[in-house]
Amino acid sequence: MGRQRRLCQICKQKGQRRESVVYMKEHRLALCEEHFKEWFERRVRETIKEFKMFKPSERVLVAVSGGKDSQTLWFVLNKLGYDADGFFIDLGIGDYSEESKQKVLELGKILGKEPKIVKLEQELGAPLPVVQNLVMGSACSVCGRIKRYHFNKVARELGYRVVATGHNLDDEASSLLANVVNWNVKYLARKYPVLPEEKGFPRKVKPLVKLTEEQIRLYADLSGIPYTDRSCPMGDTANLHFYKGIMEQIENHARGTKYRFYFEYLKKIFPIFNSLKEELVKGELRRCTVCGEPSPSEVCFVCKLRERIKEKSPS
Ligand code: SF4
Ligand code: ZN
Ligand code: ZN
Repeated sequence: MGRQRRLCQICKQKGQRRESVVYMKEHRLALCEEHFKEWFERRVRETIKEFKMFKPSERVLVAVSGGKDSQTLWFVLNKLGYDADGFFIDLGIGDYSEESKQKVLELGKILGKEPKIVKLEQELGAPLPVVQNLVMGSACSVCGRIKRYHFNKVARELGYRVVATGHNLDDEASSLLANVVNWNVKYLARKYPVLPEEKGFPRKVKPLVKLTEEQIRLYADLSGIPYTDRSCPMGDTANLHFYKGIMEQIENHARGTKYRFYFEYLKKIFPIFNSLKEELVKGELRRCTVCGEPSPSEVCFVCKLRERIKEKSPS
């Protein structure tokens, strides 16, 4: 993607001369602001239809973090006429969480929608930096489990059957690469832009999977979408950045590889792994005896955490 001085190809077809704001090498397409936004929105709409993510009549809960991807997703779904609400988990990571929350609230004002906010400290009795010290595993793995738990719980309590996340093509292609390199077949059996409702979980969808980080940033900037560029200070993202870097090198070597790698996987390989899903993803889910959420053990991960925090805190 570049910003060379080229004319918009759509305007040109209509006999107009308008300078482009973007040239997307992989599509050999130069577009002006108006036609880039149209192209972007059409791509989101087509992705939703192609993967049968949700119908216009279904309410969607968007997991917003304050970053460009999820903020853009919340914005664009509303622009396309879907009934999409934002849901933010305040993890209590100092200034980072505060700034992220402000961006979510700002976008809520623009959209005329009050975001739903859950404060981890109120839910668990401690913010993420404290929680992380009490358990094994990286901050992101603990945080990921806590966030998934709350997305599922809040969606069910508030009657949303669909939860949408802002994963983009770069996220999906690079995590696919990392999981192929490590032959993480359990993960590969579930790697798809839409996961159906099952076992008490809402449907999970990723409507931005056909768009790159750069395209999303440009759309957000042109549309005046508020977002934070700060990265989470607790994130252990070195691995993810490494695979993103490798994917980018491959993409620079042969344009369009990133897209082909991911979408050909979905078409040719995913069905094979998915047909083995029951064997690969073993373990029955039951209901947590404390909170009633689906859990592989008698008491779920979050309820166990809450107990541990209570024991550690001075009475
Ligand atoms: Fe949580 Fe890791 Fe994301 Fe920070 S970077 S919000 S710790 S998942
Ligand atoms: Zn144009
Ligand atoms: Zn529980």
